[in-house]
Amino acid sequence: MKAIETINLSYTYADGTKALQNINFTVQQGENIALLGPNGAGKSTLLHHFNGLLMPTSGKVYVLEKEVTKKNIDEIRQKVGLVFQDPDDQLFARTVSQDIAFGPTNLGLSRSEIEERVKWAIEVTELQGLENKAPQNLSTGQKKRAAIAGVLAMKPEIIILDEPMANLDPRTASKILKLLLQFNKELGLTLIIATHDVDLVPLFADEICILSKGQIVTQGPPQEVFAKTDLIRSMDLRLPRITHLFEILSKRNQLLTNKQFPLTIGEARRQILELIETNSKH
Ligand code: ADP
Repeated sequence: MKAIETINLSYTYADGTKALQNINFTVQQGENIALLGPNGAGKSTLLHHFNGLLMPTSGKVYVLEKEVTKKNIDEIRQKVGLVFQDPDDQLFARTVSQDIAFGPTNLGLSRSEIEERVKWAIEVTELQGLENKAPQNLSTGQKKRAAIAGVLAMKPEIIILDEPMANLDPRTASKILKLLLQFNKELGLTLIIATHDVDLVPLFADEICILSKGQIVTQGPPQEVFAKTDLIRSMDLRLPRITHLFEILSKRNQLLTNKQFPLTIGEARRQILELIETNSKH
């Protein structure tokens, strides 16, 4: 089943900015996708089409194989949770608990079901003790977690995150990512994450899609996309640091040239140990 599909999607803002041009993009259910691209590439504009926040100027958007129209927006928003880039755009209730309860309340769930979901979302995002705090008084990391908790409480099938790691300390960023990956594995949740953090991308992405000037410039598995080093650099992106290190070392040592460069510390560790073990046998 396709989670998201766009067909010839174009979007022009009221001031004439052509933010998206002929986007054909597909995500399968249960897949994790990283959306990369320089600032102004159209990432947020694209993501906002996936839950009907924006409607195409031309072309079509399908969610779980159903076309997004003005009529079915409520149904679409139950299935697709969007975590905004800026949590201040998302959090508005008087307390953290009330904010998290907002979505489930709108779904018309029973009081006990709402309470259960709020409790669960608070637990998994580790917001215990902050339930009665005003969202505006939380730290940036806490606000992000509260925004994610609100989306999780809706139990959507697809979660879209716009720069979820920005302004987070590394420990919180890695915790949030682990949590989302756990939901992907256990519940088959589909994740679409726009990010600049290329070091984190290989840790979660099955596919990378690079957007530039409102168009898709490449899409494929991380190994394939990060092998296009010139393209990556021309997009104001960079390789994961560990991959860059291997790229530099390969220029000095033949043993590394024939290998696929690792994208994560784990892969690098395996390759280094393999090389050491092979060498020590000779
Ligand atoms: P990204 O998320 O990749 O940084 P955006 O989707 O925010 O890119 O922006 C894509 C393009 O659309 C940019 O040129 C941006 O200036 C423009 N844009 C974004 N929002 C608006 C708006 N509300 N009105 C007019 N232009 C906009």
